[in-house]
Amino acid sequence: MANSPNYAFFEGKIVPFSEAKVSIATHALHYGTGAFGGIRGYWNEDQEELYVFRPVDHFTRLLRSARMLKMDLPYQPQQLVGILTELLRTENMRQDCYIRPYVYKATPTIGVRLHDLDDELAIFALPFGQYVDKEEGMHVTISSWRRVDDNTIPARGKIAGAYVNSALIISDAKAAGFDDGLVLNQDGHIAEASAANLFIVRDGVAITPPVTANILEGITRRSAIQLLQEEMGVKVVERNIDRTELYIADEAFSCGTAYQVSAITRVDYRAIGTGKMGPITGQLRNLYFDVVRGRISKYANWLTPIHRSVAQPAD
Ligand code: PMP
Repeated sequence: MANSPNYAFFEGKIVPFSEAKVSIATHALHYGTGAFGGIRGYWNEDQEELYVFRPVDHFTRLLRSARMLKMDLPYQPQQLVGILTELLRTENMRQDCYIRPYVYKATPTIGVRLHDLDDELAIFALPFGQYVDKEEGMHVTISSWRRVDDNTIPARGKIAGAYVNSALIISDAKAAGFDDGLVLNQDGHIAEASAANLFIVRDGVAITPPVTANILEGITRRSAIQLLQEEMGVKVVERNIDRTELYIADEAFSCGTAYQVSAITRVDYRAIGTGKMGPITGQLRNLYFDVVRGRISKYANWLTPIHRSVAQPAD
């Protein structure tokens, strides 16, 4: 792995990363019976501090995904923030990073089911920068794949097995020369991108699919809704989006932990708006970067500082 971590939280404690290994018979490896999270930590050079973005919200979602998989884990979100803080301090993480918590059916066994299996949690973190090559203007395609349905594998959970759906969407989009794929749900509305939520802007109003449209309930999406409304005075409407609304939208962007706020400027060779990043997307993007790096005190409660409260050794 590039930028391999030095440590991991594994089977109840922090261990060297090289010791965090599972059997090839692990249930989750065969049946996709795991759920994961993706959290970013942002380094603030001036303050010499690492800020983790909304970890309580991420861990709450992770534990809800675990619940959908009938997992029995002895953790509360706040406890997981404590474990993560200890891990990042042990790792001495002093740069932008990505944190991957994973809950999984750990029993080495054959037999597809959710019950009568042991559940485990693992967390590791690695240095991480920009994930999307063209954050300032992506050319996307409407995927020929459909989003997994709530009655198939719930998209609102970040369920490992369901990511085959995302993998098909992104790899086929890239093979066809696009930067990403947007995927329709079973009733033909645009659900989201392969691993990010979608917003369009029409006549100054931001529109995003509702949480009942087979999307992941994105933490960045929730943050964007609040920033658009409270800081930028932009009305946000949560409703289904038709495919052709994208063709006539003034702006579009996808957002997520890895994608941050990425402008979508073309879809299937059609320009969206002017074909350049729009003003609302641009303003939101700048605001988001200021918030996540701890430059706006009003949103300090979204951030967990990692190094600040390290106890100083007594003289
Ligand atoms: N949708 C999907 C399918 C995703 O994988 C992600 C990334 N976690 C998102 C949306 C965005 O969610 P978040 O903002 O919580 O990272």
